[in-house]
Amino acid sequence: MDRPRITIFDTTLRDGEQSPGCSMNVQEKLRLAQQLDRLGVDVIEAGFPIASDGDFDAVQRIAASVRRPIIAGLARACTGDVDRAWQALQGAARPRIHVFLATSDIHLKYKLRLTREQCLEQARNAVRHAKSLCADVEFSPEDATRTDVAFLCQVVEAVIAAGATTVNIPDTVGYSMPEEYGQLIRTLREKVAGIERVTISTHCHNDLGLAVANSLAGVQQGARQVECTINGIGERAGNASLEEIVMAMRVRPDRYPYETTVASEHLYQSSQMLAEITRVPVQPNKAITGRNAFAHEAGIHQDGMLKNPLTYEIMTPQSVGVPDSRLVLGKHSGRHALALRCEQLGHQFERRELDEVYRKFVVLADRIKKVQDSHLLELIHDVVSGTVSHSDAAGIQARKFPPATATLPFPRAAAAGGNGNSNSNSNSNSNDSHSAHISGSAGPAQVSMPFNDHHAEQEDYLWGV
Ligand SMILES: [Zn+2]
Repeated sequence: MDRPRITIFDTTLRDGEQSPGCSMNVQEKLRLAQQLDRLGVDVIEAGFPIASDGDFDAVQRIAASVRRPIIAGLARACTGDVDRAWQALQGAARPRIHVFLATSDIHLKYKLRLTREQCLEQARNAVRHAKSLCADVEFSPEDATRTDVAFLCQVVEAVIAAGATTVNIPDTVGYSMPEEYGQLIRTLREKVAGIERVTISTHCHNDLGLAVANSLAGVQQGARQVECTINGIGERAGNASLEEIVMAMRVRPDRYPYETTVASEHLYQSSQMLAEITRVPVQPNKAITGRNAFAHEAGIHQDGMLKNPLTYEIMTPQSVGVPDSRLVLGKHSGRHALALRCEQLGHQFERRELDEVYRKFVVLADRIKKVQDSHLLELIHDVVSGTVSHSDAAGIQARKFPPATATLPFPRAAAAGGNGNSNSNSNSNSNDSHSAHISGSAGPAQVSMPFNDHHAEQEDYLWGV
């Protein structure tokens, strides 16, 4: 197997750490760096040493203790920054100085107040200086995607001549479209003298939600390093998400026939560790590492999953380190999934008993979005112990979720749940128009059904299982 190797450059500790609410102390950075090492990334950008003493310290400590990956330190294109970065990297087994300088006219004019000629000169000098200290030098023309292409080619050619070994092409503001970004990489490969001697890298921001797509487009046009972060954290809308890049290549080698050394079974753990350290939770529907990424609630999905995971799963949860595909029990779950969960909790039911559990379950699930095992156990307990007056789901709700309003999604449950109910439902102040209410000693006749019976279809389907 001779697939091109893609270098995974993790910048969670630098670009990621710059994002609001994601700052980390030195200990936390060290912990995460060790996890990134286990994960198998090729490069860890450990910080921006001149930015603060804390950053310097973090880079230094990571360099001293994480020995396998390359450790990169960021520097603006000036002697002081480069020297400071090099100082922090002294103890590294494999140090890299990463120099950057903006090249777009808008940055040159308003931020740096430099002419293009001055910019070119400064980039060349900074890379030359870095190269005099360290063999491994990366250069990034900041805002490359909004830089005049001819000028960008000129700068890239100059820094290669000055000794850069990696040229990174940042879509700093997340403005590029995939085909456009890919085209830019192709143009650089066609026009820049010496480009074949260096590694071209992508660094894409997610302002339009295209960071991963842009990075992959860059790879398809010859980029061989991808800069990315765990959970896609980073400035503003974030950076390209490492886990998405890696798994896109792993799940679709037919389209992306590239190799990385990332041990994907450590992805989930890495994601969780970052969330725990920064206290910035992963969005539930985040690809690969969100808690719903492998959750299947809809009854028809759950049923398919139980028969054959390939029906709805393109990768296994285990392949990214999620212990098991969690079938979330919610109001769209069916009998089959409920029966399995009951079994996992140690209860096997006859059909009639299961029907009863299911009816109570649906009533409960309509009120609380996710039925936890503890709720289910209580419900099972009531069914098994055969209590009547408080055994209905409305009773359970009244105890556990006051103010309770029993929500009866279909007439049969209404008949079952409404009987014998004589408790705190009358305290209900729910104004949920989607709920069917029972109050006091109301029988089924007083159950109102103001909304379409959204369980009916699934109910029928599941009866056929
Ligand atoms: Zn960035």
